[in-house]
Amino acid sequence: MKNRIIVTGGAGFLGSHLCERLLAEGNEVLCVDNFFTGQKRNILHLLDNPYFEVIRHDICFPLYLEADQIYNLACPASPVHYQRDPTQTTKVNVNGSTNMLGLAKRIGARILQASTSEVYGDPTVHPQTEDYWGNVNPIGPRSCYDEGKRCAETLFMDYRKEHQLSIKIVRIFNTYGPRMHPHDGRVVSNFIMQALKNEAITIYGDGSQTRSFCYCDDLIDGFVRMMRTPDDIIGPTNLGNPNEFTIKQLAEHVIDLTGSRSRINYLPLPQDDPKQRCPDITKARTELDWQPTIELKEGLTKTIVYFEELLAENPDL
Ligand code: NAD
Ligand code: UDP
Ligand code: UDP
Repeated sequence: MKNRIIVTGGAGFLGSHLCERLLAEGNEVLCVDNFFTGQKRNILHLLDNPYFEVIRHDICFPLYLEADQIYNLACPASPVHYQRDPTQTTKVNVNGSTNMLGLAKRIGARILQASTSEVYGDPTVHPQTEDYWGNVNPIGPRSCYDEGKRCAETLFMDYRKEHQLSIKIVRIFNTYGPRMHPHDGRVVSNFIMQALKNEAITIYGDGSQTRSFCYCDDLIDGFVRMMRTPDDIIGPTNLGNPNEFTIKQLAEHVIDLTGSRSRINYLPLPQDDPKQRCPDITKARTELDWQPTIELKEGLTKTIVYFEELLAENPDL
């Protein structure tokens, strides 16, 4: 059956992949985006589809639409972007999420929140399970994002309690792939762009900090499975790839796969940078029958092809 589905942040990296997947499944998609970090280029190929509509709108303001489901992804996701206007980052998570919950309440739509592994902060439990409460600095440079996302989770749970809303919360761990913004400062896009241009690869700290990298197609599959679960499955549920790598290992893979002449340049570690991050995905395996299928090298290869094409189009990037 065709559903009408709102995707906030639909012109962003993950949002555009989600819109594409939902359209391919025969749904009607309303992409709501203010283009803060999203790009027209990400959705250009969808504009000819009569079941795809783009609405330029900031979700911090009320929105009146009719739909069956809402995926709430609107929020800058990389530290460089979410720290550029930190009060706006908190507002999109608190005021924006409240508006999307108010909308879901009025129209009786099911709503999924794109939360984050950042709710665990710099974790003292490893790997991170959903029942871990986290280790977050409330007044540091990352707090606008971490605390904003934590508050959004609170709002989702309380709207369910007070208004019996059908909600879903997924906690996304580092995800990469084609359509990442070339200058959003995230480690995968930075390293690939630097390697392709034979510029120095910038490792912050000594590169021993770890992350686990999930390819975008795997993650989107997790989103869609979560949305389809019965009403009593609400999460929060971790979605990510449990294979953990140091940042130094990531740099070596990127240099190897691009055949780059880049050297490594060690720079200071940013404040509050988490030392380790790796999801425990037992809950997703059990409740969604989901696990990532794409290995890091395979996903990096696809992502490198994307950035090569981008640089061929615009060598000055
Ligand atoms: P992105 O920056 O590419 O996408 C975010 C989108 O939201 C952009 O298109 C942006 O223009 C839009 N947006 C921002 N503020 C808005 C507002 N006020 N109103 C309407 N639209 C707005 O980032 P992404 O990586 O695609 O992340 C999507 C979601 O997933 C975010 O909520 C992010 O917090 C979450 N997430 C992503 C990752 C990851 O590794 N990519 C990890 C954890 C969580
Ligand atoms: N809202 C919206 N679209 C709707 C319904 C509500 O944007 O279709 C906004 C509304 O402006 C409000 C927020 O969602 O600020 C929360 O709505 P709710 O009904 O929960 O709260 P109330 O309006 O009672 O404060
Ligand atoms: N990082 C790095 N060089 C870069 C960008 C990031 O060494 O050019 C490090 C960063 O300090 C962090 C890790 O890579 O330890 C992941 O950073 P990213 O911004 O991608 O995501 P997050 O910190 O939110 O997990």
